[in-house]
Amino acid sequence: MERRTLAERVAGIPMFERKAQVIRIRARQAEFAETQEALPGIVAENLRKRGIERLFTHQAQAIDAVRSGKDVVVVTGTNSGKTICFAVPLLERCLAEPTARALLLYPTKALARDQLHRLESLGEGSGLRVGVYDGDTPKSERAAIRKAASVLITNPDMLHIGILPNHENWAKFLRNLRTIVLDEMHVYRGVFGSHVASVLRRLLRLCKAAGSQPQVIGASATIGNPAQLFAQLTGKEGHVVAGDGSPSGERSYFFWAPQLGDEESFPSPNRSTSAALVQVVQAGLRALAFCRSRNSVELVLRYARVAARRRGVDPDLIDSYRAGYRPEDRREIERAIFEGRLLGLASTNALELGVDIGGLDVVLMNGYPGSRSAFWQQTGRAGRGTEEGASVLLARNDPLDLYFARHPRILMESPPEPVSVSVDNPVILEQQLRCAVYERPMTLEEVESFSASASWAIGSLAESGDIEMSAGRYYYKSFDPPAPKVDIRAVGSDSVRILLDNDEVGESEYWRALKTLHKGAVHIHRGVPYLVDELNLDRREAILTHLRAEFYTEPQVEVQIQPLVKVQERVWGSLSAELSSLRVTERVTGYKRLALDGDTVLGYEALDLPPVSFDTLGIWVHLPPVEGEDAPEYLGSLHGLEHALVVTAPYIAECDRGDLGSAWYGLFPHSMKAALFVYDNVPGGIGLSERLIDSLEPWREMASELVTSCDCETGCPACLLISNCISRNNMIDKPGAILLLGKLRADRWPVSQ
Ligand SMILES: [Zn+2]
Ligand SMILES: [Zn+2]
Repeated sequence: MERRTLAERVAGIPMFERKAQVIRIRARQAEFAETQEALPGIVAENLRKRGIERLFTHQAQAIDAVRSGKDVVVVTGTNSGKTICFAVPLLERCLAEPTARALLLYPTKALARDQLHRLESLGEGSGLRVGVYDGDTPKSERAAIRKAASVLITNPDMLHIGILPNHENWAKFLRNLRTIVLDEMHVYRGVFGSHVASVLRRLLRLCKAAGSQPQVIGASATIGNPAQLFAQLTGKEGHVVAGDGSPSGERSYFFWAPQLGDEESFPSPNRSTSAALVQVVQAGLRALAFCRSRNSVELVLRYARVAARRRGVDPDLIDSYRAGYRPEDRREIERAIFEGRLLGLASTNALELGVDIGGLDVVLMNGYPGSRSAFWQQTGRAGRGTEEGASVLLARNDPLDLYFARHPRILMESPPEPVSVSVDNPVILEQQLRCAVYERPMTLEEVESFSASASWAIGSLAESGDIEMSAGRYYYKSFDPPAPKVDIRAVGSDSVRILLDNDEVGESEYWRALKTLHKGAVHIHRGVPYLVDELNLDRREAILTHLRAEFYTEPQVEVQIQPLVKVQERVWGSLSAELSSLRVTERVTGYKRLALDGDTVLGYEALDLPPVSFDTLGIWVHLPPVEGEDAPEYLGSLHGLEHALVVTAPYIAECDRGDLGSAWYGLFPHSMKAALFVYDNVPGGIGLSERLIDSLEPWREMASELVTSCDCETGCPACLLISNCISRNNMIDKPGAILLLGKLRADRWPVSQ
């Protein structure tokens, strides 16, 4: 019998048979090159021992660039041998200069451990010591690693809290620091990216004071603007080495769209994903199903185990993985899939990062993952090296998803999107400058080298009385280090412990707990639903009890907007939009209970929880006020316009849907007009609204295309109906929304500027 290809096996899975479009990318041959100078003998020998006789083109180019002493950015695909690009010249440097030190930064502890083994094996027999220094490093070993390791691997959190505030202990290390590697650079975006940009500036400032000027090497998955991101993160200009000479097997990309069911409704996306996962596992393939939220991961696992039993598949072949599990549980799951004890895993993007879990055949995506770079990151997990890989985008009943399912080439052929971080977020700057001034008094010139907004931020810190200016320098007035109170992964968030039978089974951010761990909420943990008995906000604890009922819950969140300061105003067709700072107040007013079988709404319950406010930046669209007899239709048009804009905004601003919030008013008291808001859903903002105000016309165009390319008359899940609408898609008016979109069109309504 002829052996079938992976693509044929996936295409033959019942759910996909004749129901999915497929785009194939053919296998690619390896391209090799030599470096200008030979590699150091011991490193070349270690490479040979691991079967590497020749370097790929991008590896040779990167090594030459790093050897020339420039700051370098390496941009290359998943599994292309990226580590060799920087590890080889870095080890060479340490061999040539025994006191030289190198610092490698990884966004997660798991990646740091992964990298430790690779570097140790490359440097085997050289006498160079490589050490991981992070929160998991035993206290008793820390001093020895600090003193003896030539290559130190850590994460930005440890640098921020452990190393920089105690830099006196690190004086020798900083003085001898020759190389800094920022791997997985594309991960440093949003709030985390803004913090890391400041943490790196703090590090480089202390190096300068210690008399060193380390070379900085960035390494990134494929993104649209590597040089720009490198400059934003480090304040330096990097020489870009891009390309991928590594070989690759054939890759197939399937696009599956749900069909309308009997009652004109779509099947639940979590059910579709669990069905696909079970069928792929039943075909004997190893698969990962990426889901967009923790709750979705849990539901997919739960549905999949039920479906597995029904189809005669061992349910223990399938498990789940996400942030919030205990680290030891996560390590065990990683091992199980690596060793093949597990075949199917439902996961959040916590697994998107390069943690090695062995070769996967199939990647399923429970919905469009929010950005093109996330799409390539996730699909890059399928197939390893020259083996075949397949991925399946399972469109949800969401307008943007269904749009891509209709036009997969638009998604596949668009250039990789830019990733950028804002170094001007005022909330983050104040926190970071506080840390920097604590570490070493700062001149105004040093402050200004942080970012354009830094002098403004330091002024407001001086007003608060925490810092003072004396003899031309700002200094910190207390001996208490501020860094431990600054969480670089979030803005001002603290966490809530999740307890079951007095054991901590996980944790959640405070703001998330208000939405998902309130009394009466169902919290699903590793596929098992528990009822939240109590959310104690004083003790920051959520207490779970065992649950028999078969339902889950979704919060109802009410949003209030208060405009603060106008930043700029733009004409938009015959209307106008402004970029403003806004105060957003969210209150969880209740929740709905949904049946596990069929996702039907069982009921609504009210809650009384404290509101949470934050200041951010947003787009405020000014629209004619609602009045007269057409009021109901007009409100429906506004609501439809809100949906069209909020569905397409993530594509324009290059972000996830959850990164943006929105609201609309028929009569907004501050303007006495109708108003529509789309805002950065993060305190201080992360630069998304700025991108939207600069792209009003493309945004309108995509929103119009989305709505008019759908054949329905009154709005459907493929265009205007969205599942997380707080007013449950009430009175959406599609023709009215199209009319309003027409008013935003520049050419039809010439206006004098
Ligand atoms: Zn439609
Ligand atoms: Zn809505």
